[in-house]
Amino acid sequence: MLEPKEILLAEPRGFCAGVDRAIEIVERAIQKFGAPIYVRHEIVHNTYVVNDLKAKGAIFIEELSDVPPGATLVFSAHGVSKAVQQEAEARGFSIFDATCPLVTKVHVEVAKLAKEGYEFIMIGHKGHPEVEGTMGQLDHGIHLVEDVEDVARVQPAQTEKLAVVTQTTLSVDDAAEISAAVRARFPNVREPKQQDICYATQNRQDAVKVLSPQVDVVIVVGSPTSSNSNRLRELAAKLGTTAYMVDSADELQGEWFKGRSRVGLTAGASAPEILVQQVIDRIKALGAVSVRTMAGIEETIKFPLPKGLKIDAATGLEIRERTPETGPSAH
Ligand code: SF4
Repeated sequence: MLEPKEILLAEPRGFCAGVDRAIEIVERAIQKFGAPIYVRHEIVHNTYVVNDLKAKGAIFIEELSDVPPGATLVFSAHGVSKAVQQEAEARGFSIFDATCPLVTKVHVEVAKLAKEGYEFIMIGHKGHPEVEGTMGQLDHGIHLVEDVEDVARVQPAQTEKLAVVTQTTLSVDDAAEISAAVRARFPNVREPKQQDICYATQNRQDAVKVLSPQVDVVIVVGSPTSSNSNRLRELAAKLGTTAYMVDSADELQGEWFKGRSRVGLTAGASAPEILVQQVIDRIKALGAVSVRTMAGIEETIKFPLPKGLKIDAATGLEIRERTPETGPSAH
């Protein structure tokens, strides 16, 4: 019986700029204001990251009523609805917004076009916090479609001013198919100038497309709640390669590798590299002798931290903005 011999690592994989920034916001808020810092929803969808931040002093909540008066609150990378933002402001919390700037970009577009009288079709997964946050930018006039069948059923009040937006972490191919169905039914629909699916989702899916045909099994490191990680596993499976997703190395099962000599390994945008290294160690213990990293796109994007949490890299001191509000951003 053959055992795993080689591990081929996808590139890029793991943390994106939005996840890096969100985690740093929580860590710096704890350093600056002391524990506990409250975080609405999992800051990013990864069990290891959430447990690590809990150990450092973060408390994760879903309901703002669970946050005591005067507390510091961080919004997760997925973004929040207007109602949540307004409630948090009304309760007087010090707020840091860790919404990924690429999600905020979609919120801004929705608000701008809504003012011009547009109605929206949102392509996304029902119940995902990013979808709730984006749809919650408006009181009405934004309709969710999850698949092509939904496109046939959706009933906007008018079709002259209709725009489409998407969740940032969808399958690029599925979203293209659903967008085509939207265009076919509503030929005047306005589409985003640059697609809403983010660079990190696109790059990780592109890497899996190159990786999958070269290996006998694909392992995706990611938590079950992570949309982009699920899409990576599905994509590898669609390409005909057996694929599994694991939250940690403990979940790997020896029989997945029996008779499979080349193992492809990737990680969702919220999965830290330490988990990838632990998975590599475990597969090595099962027999793999070499690890090779694929050639791939180098990601250099970095998003700035919010006001009040910026640190000068040279001095290690906090950067104070020349504005009246040097404290936590109210946004
Ligand atoms: S996956 Fe994309 S949208 Fe989500 S945090 Fe990362 S860069 Fe932002």
